[in-house]
Amino acid sequence: MFMAKKIAILGSTGSIGRNALEVISALEPAFEVVAMSAHHRVDLFCEQIEAVRPPVAAMTDPQAAQACRKRLGNCGCEILAGPDSLVEIASLDEVDIVVCAVVGAAGLPAALAAAQAGKTLAIANKEPLVIAGELLTRTARQHGATILPVDSEHSAVFQSMQSGCSAEVDKVILTASGGPFRNKTAEQMRRATIREALKHPTWTMGPKITVDSASMMNKALEVIEAVWLFGLPVDKIDVLIHPESVVHSMVEFVDGSVIAQLGTPDMKLPIQYALTYPKRVRGVCDRLRLDRLGKLTFEPPDLGKFRALTLGFEAARSGGSAPVVFNAANEVAVEAFLAGRIPFGAIVDSIEQCLEAHTNQSHLLSLEELMATDAWARQYTAQHLSASFKTVIQK
Ligand code: MG
Repeated sequence: MFMAKKIAILGSTGSIGRNALEVISALEPAFEVVAMSAHHRVDLFCEQIEAVRPPVAAMTDPQAAQACRKRLGNCGCEILAGPDSLVEIASLDEVDIVVCAVVGAAGLPAALAAAQAGKTLAIANKEPLVIAGELLTRTARQHGATILPVDSEHSAVFQSMQSGCSAEVDKVILTASGGPFRNKTAEQMRRATIREALKHPTWTMGPKITVDSASMMNKALEVIEAVWLFGLPVDKIDVLIHPESVVHSMVEFVDGSVIAQLGTPDMKLPIQYALTYPKRVRGVCDRLRLDRLGKLTFEPPDLGKFRALTLGFEAARSGGSAPVVFNAANEVAVEAFLAGRIPFGAIVDSIEQCLEAHTNQSHLLSLEELMATDAWARQYTAQHLSASFKTVIQK
């Protein structure tokens, strides 16, 4: 009998969530959304619920959940409320695949719950693997859960890995667009405005990840993500700037063969591959036209300028709680930057400062310990930033 794969989307109103809904509606009836969550965007979430009609939905902001219930009335969709509701929908019995696309560390408990429930976890946000890579991958192994990457670079690595076995991998080469500051000096980058940082040359994404791309923090987080997703030592991971964002990443095998995955810069393709893996099907993605592109270029990253990348490699090498601090300090600093409270250059400074103030814990950390470290780093960075920058510097 034909059975649709049942999907829960965590973070349906974000960029990944909206793309996922588009991919899934093109793949119907093979896939069906049975649960979805959002944080606080009531208007869009109500529209999505009316279009998709899942039996259950969740809003992590309780007031938004209340507004949503009021708006939808008796529509046959139960609306859960509060941060714990994410865990609830991630572990529903009927769910086969959990698409985890919640911004920041907030998605971690739900990702762990999905792993504990033995689900297929299509993971789009890097934080669960960055913060709790060891705990999450171990939990997945213990409970027979599968973690599939949705991040475009890791999807590319995963697809390239199908050409050999993991013992044959010599190197993983993550490509990076270089962001809007690739051709700027370190000093210009330090003084960049919000508008400049939000102008990504190739990808359209949410504001947090766009700022992370400008600092190359995003690539740093992806290095840590790759360590856990592919079980690789950090020294086997390289970063290469590729401004066209067409080669999404590569794997170099022991015989010297380099296998790459190419495609248009569109998240719908990696989302779809995670859903249909190990199969490929026709979908909604545009075709790559290399004849129109003409040329593809590559250059090594300037590690002196992109200090976030250097710090990321160090945090990955240190392991333990260092990646937790690295991520949390960045989240707080990026928020302050987007609020116009700190200059762009202060983001990486405050991450470095927080890492220096932290004593690394190298044992396998529990969720509680990870969250405590995360909270400490957030508080430390917030205090440090409000002491250093007292007025709003740009709008
Ligand atoms: Mg990426």
